[in-house]
Amino acid sequence: MAENFTPIQELGEFGLINSIQQSVKQFLPSTIKGIGDDCAVIEKNEEEFWVVSTDTMCEAVHFDLRYVPLKHLGYKALSTAISDIAAMNGIPSQVLVSLALSSRFTKEAVDELYEGMNHACENYKVDLVGGDTTSSQSGLMISVTVIGSVKKEKIAYRSTAKKGDLVCVTGDFGAAYLGLHLLEREKQAFLENDKMQPKLGTHSYLLQRQLKPEARTDAIFELEDLGIVPTSMIDVSDGLASEIMHLATQSNLGAQLYEEKIPIANETFNAGVDIFKIDPITCALNGGEDYELLMTIKQEDFDKIEKHPEISIIGFMTDPDQGVNLITKQGNVKEIQAQGWQHFKKPEKE
Ligand code: ADP
Ligand code: MG
Repeated sequence: MAENFTPIQELGEFGLINSIQQSVKQFLPSTIKGIGDDCAVIEKNEEEFWVVSTDTMCEAVHFDLRYVPLKHLGYKALSTAISDIAAMNGIPSQVLVSLALSSRFTKEAVDELYEGMNHACENYKVDLVGGDTTSSQSGLMISVTVIGSVKKEKIAYRSTAKKGDLVCVTGDFGAAYLGLHLLEREKQAFLENDKMQPKLGTHSYLLQRQLKPEARTDAIFELEDLGIVPTSMIDVSDGLASEIMHLATQSNLGAQLYEEKIPIANETFNAGVDIFKIDPITCALNGGEDYELLMTIKQEDFDKIEKHPEISIIGFMTDPDQGVNLITKQGNVKEIQAQGWQHFKKPEKE
């Protein structure tokens, strides 16, 4: 490559976004927050902000249509976009869907995709109000823009955690990653019979988490009922490790997480140990696509959350010089490194 050109691989996805962020200026007072959080934040009225986010899924990068049913894909495209609204403590209201389609797709295929999207709209109580359609030279691309609102005093940024805050998560981790492994392993069976749908039999939980994930908008209502406003929040799309790094770095803090506290479903644990020989904690930290919420709350909110079946306390925020660490089940301190999914990442050196 010519001397003055930098391969994107050298920056990685986050480096590239940083570089874009440096080059972009904002002029409008109504732009409350631009690049750098799960959503852009825009003035709505005296009480509320708009929160807006876009997510793109590309064939052969994000999904393999040899085993992903289009209906599930439509549902997932909306879930992943809506998850970013939840990450701001917001409630989604409208979505716009843009498609790029190669000539191999039929009207019936698009119908199937929209069946899944319509199902998601019903479930999340959002309206699909527009989009764009173009042709593509290589496969299918789906881009979803989602709009939501949040009361100003309830907005949760990535950068506002405080030292001593409790680190909490919704749901459990690592299942979607093993679901993907399972599908990849079974690919041959799918290839031999193109009518075959993934069996939601023995490993139904793992497959469901991979193929048809849910955004945790339910948790936003739940937090409201509990009277909790998270001091910071992010959704877990790229693995718990990567996301706690974002919260810690952007809040200028460190964090201490406890391995034994990180929720992992039995099915994930057993499949990790028995079938794939992958340490379940590695799946939870570095797997990704869980679409759970990672948040910090004030210590004084401990009692409100302590016995909650869907929210687990997994650690606390520390001084920045203490770094971001995992205390293992054996009591060892292990530095957490963000090894989750990143586009353009160079392969690890041997
Ligand atoms: P998430 O994983 O929550 O969807 P991303 O890591 O994709 O977040 O994006 C982080 C931030 O960078 C967001 O504020 C997003 O809007 C912004 N961003 C990502 N790509 C671009 C781009 N090409 N141009 C401008 N902003 C971008
Ligand atoms: Mg996000």
